[in-house]
Amino acid sequence: MDFNLSEDQKLIRDMSREFAEKELKDYAVEIDEKREFPKNVLKKMSQLGLLGLAIPEKFSGNEMDILSIVIAIEEIAKVCASTAVICAIHNLVVSYAISQFGTEEQKRKHLPKLAQGKEISGISLMEPDAESLITDLDLITSQQGEKYILNGKKRLMLGGNTADLFLVFAKDEQSKIKIFLIEKGMDGFIFDKEENTLGLRGIKSCELSFEKCQIPKENLLGKDMEQTLYLKKISDMGKIAISAVAIGIAQSALDMSIEYSLQRRQFGKTIAEFQAIQWMLAQMESDITGARSTLYYAVALKGESKSTGKECAIAKLTSAQVAVKTTINAIQVRGGYGYMKDFPLERMFRDAKSMEFIMGTLQTQKDIIAEKLLKS
Ligand SMILES: Cc1cc2nc3c(=O)[nH]c(=O)nc-3n(C[C@H](O)[C@H](O)[C@H](O)COP(=O)(O)OP(=O)(O)OC[C@H]3O[C@@H](n4cnc5c(N)ncnc54)[C@H](O)[C@@H]3O)c2cc1C
Repeated sequence: MDFNLSEDQKLIRDMSREFAEKELKDYAVEIDEKREFPKNVLKKMSQLGLLGLAIPEKFSGNEMDILSIVIAIEEIAKVCASTAVICAIHNLVVSYAISQFGTEEQKRKHLPKLAQGKEISGISLMEPDAESLITDLDLITSQQGEKYILNGKKRLMLGGNTADLFLVFAKDEQSKIKIFLIEKGMDGFIFDKEENTLGLRGIKSCELSFEKCQIPKENLLGKDMEQTLYLKKISDMGKIAISAVAIGIAQSALDMSIEYSLQRRQFGKTIAEFQAIQWMLAQMESDITGARSTLYYAVALKGESKSTGKECAIAKLTSAQVAVKTTINAIQVRGGYGYMKDFPLERMFRDAKSMEFIMGTLQTQKDIIAEKLLKS
Protein backbone atom coordinates (compact mmCIF):
# COMPACT_ATOMS: atom_id res chain seq x y z
CA MET A 1 0.00 0.00 0.00
CA ASP A 2 1.43 3.32 -1.08
CA PHE A 3 0.29 6.34 0.92
CA ASN A 4 2.43 8.81 -1.04
CA LEU A 5 0.09 11.30 -2.62
CA SER A 6 -0.15 11.36 -6.41
CA GLU A 7 0.11 14.68 -8.29
CA ASP A 8 -3.70 14.72 -8.67
CA GLN A 9 -4.16 14.14 -4.94
CA LYS A 10 -1.76 16.99 -4.15
CA LEU A 11 -3.74 19.23 -6.50
CA ILE A 12 -7.09 18.49 -4.83
CA ARG A 13 -5.47 18.95 -1.39
CA ASP A 14 -4.04 22.34 -2.33
CA MET A 15 -7.23 23.49 -4.03
CA SER A 16 -9.39 22.51 -1.03
CA ARG A 17 -6.95 24.15 1.39
CA GLU A 18 -6.92 27.38 -0.58
CA PHE A 19 -10.70 27.40 -0.86
CA ALA A 20 -11.22 26.77 2.87
CA GLU A 21 -8.71 29.46 3.88
CA LYS A 22 -10.25 32.01 1.52
CA GLU A 23 -13.96 31.30 1.78
CA LEU A 24 -14.45 29.70 5.18
CA LYS A 25 -11.96 31.02 7.70
CA ASP A 26 -14.01 34.03 8.86
CA TYR A 27 -17.39 32.62 7.91
CA ALA A 28 -16.88 29.53 10.14
CA VAL A 29 -17.47 31.72 13.22
CA GLU A 30 -20.79 32.94 11.83
CA ILE A 31 -21.86 29.44 10.82
CA ASP A 32 -21.33 28.33 14.42
CA GLU A 33 -22.82 31.36 16.17
CA LYS A 34 -25.88 31.77 13.96
CA ARG A 35 -26.39 28.04 13.36
CA GLU A 36 -26.22 28.84 9.67
CA PHE A 37 -26.29 26.15 7.01
CA PRO A 38 -23.50 27.25 4.61
CA LYS A 39 -25.56 27.14 1.41
CA ASN A 40 -23.61 29.90 -0.37
CA VAL A 41 -20.29 28.25 0.36
CA LEU A 42 -21.66 24.96 -0.93
CA LYS A 43 -22.64 26.69 -4.16
CA LYS A 44 -19.05 27.89 -4.60
CA MET A 45 -17.81 24.40 -3.76
CA SER A 46 -19.97 22.93 -6.50
CA GLN A 47 -18.39 25.34 -8.99
CA LEU A 48 -14.99 23.88 -8.07
CA GLY A 49 -16.29 20.33 -8.41
CA LEU A 50 -16.09 19.70 -4.66
CA LEU A 51 -19.64 18.37 -4.47
CA GLY A 52 -19.24 15.82 -7.25
CA LEU A 53 -16.06 14.15 -6.08
CA ALA A 54 -17.50 10.61 -5.93
CA ILE A 55 -19.77 10.97 -8.95
CA PRO A 56 -18.87 9.45 -12.35
CA GLU A 57 -17.84 11.94 -15.04
CA LYS A 58 -20.77 10.90 -17.25
CA PHE A 59 -23.09 12.34 -14.56
CA SER A 60 -21.15 15.63 -14.32
CA GLY A 61 -18.92 14.51 -11.43
CA ASN A 62 -15.15 14.30 -10.94
CA GLU A 63 -14.99 10.54 -10.29
CA MET A 64 -12.15 10.70 -7.77
CA ASP A 65 -10.71 7.88 -5.71
CA ILE A 66 -11.76 7.72 -2.05
CA LEU A 67 -8.38 8.87 -0.72
CA SER A 68 -8.55 12.08 -2.78
CA ILE A 69 -11.98 12.83 -1.33
CA VAL A 70 -10.75 12.12 2.20
CA ILE A 71 -7.82 14.50 1.70
CA ALA A 72 -10.14 17.26 0.44
CA ILE A 73 -12.42 16.80 3.45
CA GLU A 74 -9.51 16.92 5.90
CA GLU A 75 -8.56 20.32 4.46
CA ILE A 76 -12.08 21.73 4.79
CA ALA A 77 -12.41 20.32 8.32
CA LYS A 78 -9.24 22.17 9.35
CA VAL A 79 -11.21 25.39 8.94
CA CYS A 80 -14.92 24.51 9.40
CA ALA A 81 -16.09 21.13 10.68
CA SER A 82 -19.77 21.84 9.94
CA THR A 83 -19.08 22.48 6.27
CA ALA A 84 -16.74 19.48 6.16
CA VAL A 85 -19.39 17.13 7.60
CA ILE A 86 -21.98 18.31 5.07
CA CYS A 87 -19.46 17.88 2.25
CA ALA A 88 -18.28 14.50 3.59
CA ILE A 89 -21.77 13.00 3.90
CA HIS A 90 -22.82 14.51 0.55
CA ASN A 91 -19.81 13.06 -1.31
CA LEU A 92 -18.79 9.92 0.53
CA VAL A 93 -22.20 8.69 1.65
CA VAL A 94 -25.13 9.88 -0.46
CA SER A 95 -23.42 10.52 -3.82
CA TYR A 96 -21.28 7.40 -3.33
CA ALA A 97 -24.34 5.27 -2.49
CA ILE A 98 -26.30 6.40 -5.55
CA SER A 99 -23.25 6.11 -7.84
CA GLN A 100 -22.47 2.59 -6.63
CA PHE A 101 -25.88 1.09 -5.92
CA GLY A 102 -28.52 3.30 -7.51
CA THR A 103 -30.63 2.28 -10.51
CA GLU A 104 -29.84 3.98 -13.83
CA GLU A 105 -32.90 6.15 -13.37
CA GLN A 106 -31.82 7.23 -9.86
CA LYS A 107 -28.34 8.05 -11.16
CA ARG A 108 -29.70 10.10 -14.04
CA LYS A 109 -32.17 11.90 -11.82
CA HIS A 110 -29.95 12.80 -8.87
CA LEU A 111 -26.23 12.60 -9.65
CA PRO A 112 -25.93 15.66 -11.92
CA LYS A 113 -27.94 17.72 -9.42
CA LEU A 114 -25.80 16.53 -6.52
CA ALA A 115 -22.61 17.35 -8.43
CA GLN A 116 -23.87 20.81 -9.34
CA GLY A 117 -25.07 21.57 -5.79
CA LYS A 118 -28.68 21.79 -6.98
CA GLU A 119 -29.44 19.06 -4.47
CA ILE A 120 -27.68 19.04 -1.10
CA SER A 121 -28.00 15.72 0.65
CA GLY A 122 -28.11 14.22 4.13
CA ILE A 123 -28.70 10.89 5.82
CA SER A 124 -31.30 9.88 8.33
CA LEU A 125 -30.45 6.85 10.42
CA MET A 126 -30.92 7.84 14.02
CA GLU A 127 -34.24 7.42 15.83
CA PRO A 128 -35.53 8.49 19.24
CA ASP A 129 -35.83 4.94 20.59
CA ALA A 130 -33.48 2.90 18.45
CA GLU A 131 -30.12 1.90 19.88
CA SER A 132 -26.77 2.84 18.41
CA LEU A 133 -26.58 -0.21 16.19
CA ILE A 134 -28.00 0.86 12.90
CA THR A 135 -30.00 -2.31 12.37
CA ASP A 136 -32.22 -1.45 15.37
CA LEU A 137 -34.53 0.76 13.34
CA ASP A 138 -38.12 1.54 14.25
CA LEU A 139 -39.11 3.52 11.18
CA ILE A 140 -41.56 1.12 9.59
CA THR A 141 -42.41 0.77 5.97
CA SER A 142 -45.16 -1.25 4.40
CA GLN A 143 -45.86 -1.77 0.72
CA GLN A 144 -49.12 -0.75 -0.91
CA GLY A 145 -49.14 -1.46 -4.62
CA GLU A 146 -46.54 0.72 -6.30
CA LYS A 147 -45.78 2.67 -3.11
CA TYR A 148 -44.12 2.25 0.26
CA ILE A 149 -45.76 3.89 3.26
CA LEU A 150 -43.46 5.17 6.01
CA ASN A 151 -44.46 5.84 9.59
CA GLY A 152 -42.20 6.87 12.45
CA LYS A 153 -39.69 9.43 13.67
CA LYS A 154 -36.02 10.28 13.15
CA ARG A 155 -33.69 12.56 15.08
CA LEU A 156 -30.54 14.56 14.52
CA MET A 157 -30.76 14.55 10.77
CA LEU A 158 -28.13 16.58 8.97
CA GLY A 159 -29.41 19.27 6.67
CA GLY A 160 -32.79 19.79 8.30
CA ASN A 161 -35.22 21.56 6.02
CA THR A 162 -32.33 23.23 4.19
CA ALA A 163 -31.14 20.09 2.41
CA ASP A 164 -33.00 18.59 -0.53
CA LEU A 165 -32.36 14.85 -0.72
CA PHE A 166 -32.08 12.32 2.10
CA LEU A 167 -30.97 8.75 2.36
CA VAL A 168 -33.47 7.36 4.86
CA PHE A 169 -33.09 3.98 6.57
CA ALA A 170 -36.16 2.01 7.61
CA LYS A 171 -37.36 -1.53 8.24
CA ASP A 172 -40.31 -3.37 6.75
CA GLU A 173 -42.79 -5.52 8.67
CA GLN A 174 -40.50 -8.54 8.22
CA SER A 175 -37.63 -6.52 9.80
CA LYS A 176 -35.81 -6.24 6.48
CA ILE A 177 -33.79 -3.07 5.89
CA LYS A 178 -35.05 -0.62 3.28
CA ILE A 179 -33.09 2.42 2.13
CA PHE A 180 -35.01 5.21 0.43
CA LEU A 181 -34.14 8.34 -1.49
CA ILE A 182 -36.54 10.90 -0.07
CA GLU A 183 -36.92 14.37 -1.48
CA LYS A 184 -37.92 17.44 0.46
CA GLY A 185 -41.61 18.17 -0.04
CA MET A 186 -42.84 14.59 -0.32
CA ASP A 187 -46.27 14.12 1.25
CA GLY A 188 -46.06 13.07 4.90
CA PHE A 189 -42.33 13.88 5.21
CA ILE A 190 -42.34 16.49 7.98
CA PHE A 191 -39.50 18.52 9.46
CA ASP A 192 -40.05 18.97 13.19
CA LYS A 193 -37.93 21.09 15.49
CA GLU A 194 -34.34 22.03 14.81
CA GLU A 195 -31.92 20.51 17.33
CA ASN A 196 -29.78 22.91 19.35
CA THR A 197 -26.44 21.11 19.51
CA LEU A 198 -23.19 21.85 21.37
CA GLY A 199 -21.09 21.59 18.23
CA LEU A 200 -21.49 21.11 14.47
CA ARG A 201 -24.05 23.87 14.72
CA GLY A 202 -23.97 24.64 10.99
CA ILE A 203 -25.26 21.26 9.88
CA LYS A 204 -28.80 22.17 11.03
CA SER A 205 -29.69 18.86 12.63
CA CYS A 206 -33.41 18.37 13.02
CA GLU A 207 -36.15 15.98 14.03
CA LEU A 208 -38.31 14.37 11.37
CA SER A 209 -41.66 12.69 11.27
CA PHE A 210 -43.00 10.35 8.65
CA GLU A 211 -46.78 10.30 8.75
CA LYS A 212 -48.20 7.93 6.18
CA CYS A 213 -45.44 9.20 3.95
CA GLN A 214 -45.93 7.75 0.48
CA ILE A 215 -42.74 6.83 -1.32
CA PRO A 216 -42.89 5.66 -4.95
CA LYS A 217 -41.32 2.23 -5.47
CA GLU A 218 -38.63 3.70 -7.69
CA ASN A 219 -37.25 5.64 -4.68
CA LEU A 220 -35.95 2.45 -3.05
CA LEU A 221 -32.18 2.61 -3.47
CA GLY A 222 -30.95 0.09 -6.06
CA LYS A 223 -32.13 -3.51 -5.78
CA ASP A 224 -34.49 -4.75 -3.06
CA MET A 225 -32.42 -7.91 -2.46
CA GLU A 226 -29.23 -5.98 -1.71
CA GLN A 227 -30.43 -3.55 0.97
CA THR A 228 -28.55 -5.09 3.92
CA LEU A 229 -25.32 -5.18 1.94
CA TYR A 230 -25.80 -1.53 0.97
CA LEU A 231 -26.37 -0.62 4.61
CA LYS A 232 -23.01 -2.14 5.62
CA LYS A 233 -21.15 -0.44 2.80
CA ILE A 234 -22.83 2.92 3.35
CA SER A 235 -22.13 2.70 7.07
CA ASP A 236 -18.43 2.02 6.37
CA MET A 237 -18.31 5.03 4.06
CA GLY A 238 -19.96 7.15 6.75
CA LYS A 239 -17.22 6.17 9.18
CA ILE A 240 -14.55 7.04 6.63
CA ALA A 241 -16.26 10.41 6.06
CA ILE A 242 -16.42 11.29 9.76
CA SER A 243 -12.86 10.05 10.41
CA ALA A 244 -11.60 12.44 7.72
CA VAL A 245 -13.38 15.35 9.43
CA ALA A 246 -12.03 14.34 12.86
CA ILE A 247 -8.45 14.14 11.57
CA GLY A 248 -8.78 17.54 9.87
CA ILE A 249 -9.92 19.11 13.16
CA ALA A 250 -7.05 17.47 15.08
CA GLN A 251 -4.43 18.49 12.50
CA SER A 252 -5.60 22.08 12.62
CA ALA A 253 -5.44 22.09 16.44
CA LEU A 254 -1.84 20.84 16.27
CA ASP A 255 -0.85 23.39 13.60
CA MET A 256 -2.28 26.19 15.76
CA SER A 257 -0.46 24.87 18.83
CA ILE A 258 2.91 24.82 17.06
CA GLU A 259 2.42 28.36 15.76
CA TYR A 260 1.33 29.72 19.15
CA SER A 261 4.01 27.97 21.16
CA LEU A 262 6.71 29.52 18.95
CA GLN A 263 5.30 33.03 19.55
CA ARG A 264 4.15 33.06 23.17
CA ARG A 265 6.90 34.02 25.62
CA GLN A 266 6.94 33.25 29.34
CA PHE A 267 9.88 33.42 31.76
CA GLY A 268 12.09 34.93 29.06
CA LYS A 269 11.62 32.21 26.45
CA THR A 270 9.03 30.89 24.04
CA ILE A 271 6.75 28.27 25.57
CA ALA A 272 7.93 25.93 22.76
CA GLU A 273 11.23 25.75 24.66
CA PHE A 274 9.53 24.06 27.63
CA GLN A 275 9.74 20.31 27.47
CA ALA A 276 6.19 19.99 28.83
CA ILE A 277 4.86 21.81 25.75
CA GLN A 278 7.17 19.90 23.39
CA TRP A 279 5.84 16.61 24.75
CA MET A 280 2.25 17.72 24.24
CA LEU A 281 3.03 18.62 20.63
CA ALA A 282 4.87 15.32 20.14
CA GLN A 283 1.92 13.38 21.56
CA MET A 284 -0.53 15.21 19.28
CA GLU A 285 1.63 14.44 16.23
CA SER A 286 1.90 10.74 17.19
CA ASP A 287 -1.83 10.45 17.81
CA ILE A 288 -2.76 12.12 14.52
CA THR A 289 -0.26 10.04 12.54
CA GLY A 290 -1.71 6.89 14.10
CA ALA A 291 -5.33 7.90 13.44
CA ARG A 292 -4.59 8.98 9.87
CA SER A 293 -2.83 5.67 9.19
CA THR A 294 -5.87 3.69 10.35
CA LEU A 295 -8.07 5.79 8.08
CA TYR A 296 -5.85 5.52 5.01
CA TYR A 297 -5.51 1.77 5.61
CA ALA A 298 -9.33 1.40 5.67
CA VAL A 299 -9.54 3.50 2.50
CA ALA A 300 -6.89 1.36 0.78
CA LEU A 301 -8.79 -1.84 1.65
CA LYS A 302 -11.98 -0.27 0.35
CA GLY A 303 -10.17 0.56 -2.90
CA GLU A 304 -9.26 -3.13 -3.21
CA SER A 305 -12.92 -4.08 -2.56
CA LYS A 306 -11.92 -5.95 0.60
CA SER A 307 -14.04 -6.27 3.74
CA THR A 308 -13.62 -3.11 5.80
CA GLY A 309 -16.14 -3.28 8.68
CA LYS A 310 -13.52 -3.66 11.41
CA GLU A 311 -11.01 -1.27 9.82
CA CYS A 312 -13.60 1.50 9.35
CA ALA A 313 -14.69 1.07 12.98
CA ILE A 314 -11.02 1.32 14.09
CA ALA A 315 -10.52 4.47 12.01
CA LYS A 316 -13.68 6.08 13.41
CA LEU A 317 -12.89 5.10 17.01
CA THR A 318 -9.30 6.30 16.80
CA SER A 319 -9.82 9.53 14.90
CA ALA A 320 -12.81 10.69 16.99
CA GLN A 321 -10.85 10.13 20.21
CA VAL A 322 -7.79 11.86 18.79
CA ALA A 323 -9.85 14.87 17.69
CA VAL A 324 -11.23 15.34 21.21
CA LYS A 325 -7.88 14.76 22.97
CA THR A 326 -5.94 16.99 20.59
CA THR A 327 -8.37 19.92 20.78
CA ILE A 328 -8.38 19.73 24.61
CA ASN A 329 -4.57 19.78 24.66
CA ALA A 330 -4.43 22.57 22.09
CA ILE A 331 -6.65 24.66 24.39
CA GLN A 332 -4.14 23.92 27.17
CA VAL A 333 -1.20 25.06 25.01
CA ARG A 334 -2.99 28.37 24.42
CA GLY A 335 -3.69 28.81 28.13
CA GLY A 336 -6.61 31.13 28.99
CA TYR A 337 -6.78 32.38 25.41
CA GLY A 338 -7.63 28.86 24.26
CA TYR A 339 -10.81 28.97 26.33
CA MET A 340 -12.04 32.21 24.77
CA LYS A 341 -14.58 32.50 21.99
CA ASP A 342 -12.26 34.98 20.24
CA PHE A 343 -10.21 32.00 19.02
CA PRO A 344 -11.41 28.94 17.10
CA LEU A 345 -10.20 26.25 19.51
CA GLU A 346 -13.23 26.17 21.80
CA ARG A 347 -15.47 25.70 18.72
CA MET A 348 -13.13 23.03 17.40
CA PHE A 349 -13.37 21.17 20.71
CA ARG A 350 -17.19 21.32 20.61
CA ASP A 351 -17.16 20.10 17.00
CA ALA A 352 -14.64 17.36 17.84
CA LYS A 353 -16.89 15.98 20.58
CA SER A 354 -19.65 15.30 18.03
CA MET A 355 -17.25 13.02 16.14
CA GLU A 356 -17.72 10.53 19.01
CA PHE A 357 -21.44 10.17 18.15
CA ILE A 358 -22.13 10.80 14.51
CA MET A 359 -22.10 7.51 12.51
CA GLY A 360 -22.12 5.56 15.77
CA THR A 361 -20.69 5.99 19.25
CA LEU A 362 -17.22 4.88 20.36
CA GLN A 363 -18.84 1.97 22.17
CA THR A 364 -20.58 0.82 18.99
CA GLN A 365 -17.25 0.86 17.15
CA LYS A 366 -15.72 -1.24 19.92
CA ASP A 367 -18.60 -3.73 19.63
CA ILE A 368 -17.93 -4.08 15.89
CA ILE A 369 -14.20 -4.57 16.43
CA ALA A 370 -14.67 -7.05 19.30
CA GLU A 371 -17.24 -9.07 17.37
CA LYS A 372 -14.81 -9.45 14.47
CA LEU A 373 -11.92 -10.37 16.78
CA LEU A 374 -13.90 -13.01 18.60
CA LYS A 375 -15.29 -14.53 15.40
CA SER A 376 -11.93 -15.05 13.69
C1 LIG B 1 -24.02 16.64 16.00
C2 LIG B 1 -24.64 15.34 15.62
C3 LIG B 1 -25.06 15.15 14.32
C4 LIG B 1 -25.67 13.97 13.94
N1 LIG B 1 -26.08 13.82 12.65
C5 LIG B 1 -26.77 12.71 12.31
C6 LIG B 1 -27.30 12.57 10.98
O1 LIG B 1 -27.11 13.42 10.11
N2 LIG B 1 -28.03 11.47 10.69
C7 LIG B 1 -28.26 10.51 11.61
O2 LIG B 1 -28.93 9.55 11.28
N3 LIG B 1 -27.76 10.59 12.87
C8 LIG B 1 -27.03 11.68 13.24
N4 LIG B 1 -26.55 11.80 14.52
C9 LIG B 1 -26.91 10.77 15.50
C10 LIG B 1 -25.81 9.81 15.91
O3 LIG B 1 -25.55 8.92 14.88
C11 LIG B 1 -26.27 9.13 17.21
O4 LIG B 1 -26.29 10.11 18.23
C12 LIG B 1 -25.40 7.98 17.60
O5 LIG B 1 -25.54 6.93 16.69
C13 LIG B 1 -25.72 7.45 19.00
O6 LIG B 1 -27.07 7.08 19.15
P1 LIG B 1 -27.87 7.62 20.38
O7 LIG B 1 -27.69 9.07 20.47
O8 LIG B 1 -29.25 7.05 20.28
O9 LIG B 1 -27.16 7.02 21.68
P2 LIG B 1 -27.54 5.67 22.45
O10 LIG B 1 -27.42 4.53 21.51
O11 LIG B 1 -28.79 5.84 23.20
O12 LIG B 1 -26.33 5.62 23.46
C14 LIG B 1 -26.31 6.28 24.73
C15 LIG B 1 -25.03 5.87 25.44
O13 LIG B 1 -25.05 4.48 25.72
C16 LIG B 1 -23.95 3.84 25.12
N5 LIG B 1 -24.34 2.54 24.57
C17 LIG B 1 -25.38 2.28 23.75
N6 LIG B 1 -25.42 0.98 23.45
C18 LIG B 1 -24.38 0.41 24.11
C19 LIG B 1 -23.88 -0.92 24.21
N7 LIG B 1 -24.46 -1.92 23.55
N8 LIG B 1 -22.80 -1.12 24.97
C20 LIG B 1 -22.21 -0.12 25.63
N9 LIG B 1 -22.62 1.16 25.58
C21 LIG B 1 -23.69 1.40 24.83
C22 LIG B 1 -23.53 4.77 23.98
O14 LIG B 1 -22.18 4.59 23.63
C23 LIG B 1 -23.78 6.12 24.58
O15 LIG B 1 -22.70 6.50 25.38
C24 LIG B 1 -25.89 12.95 14.91
C25 LIG B 1 -25.42 13.12 16.21
C26 LIG B 1 -24.80 14.30 16.58
C27 LIG B 1 -24.31 14.47 17.99
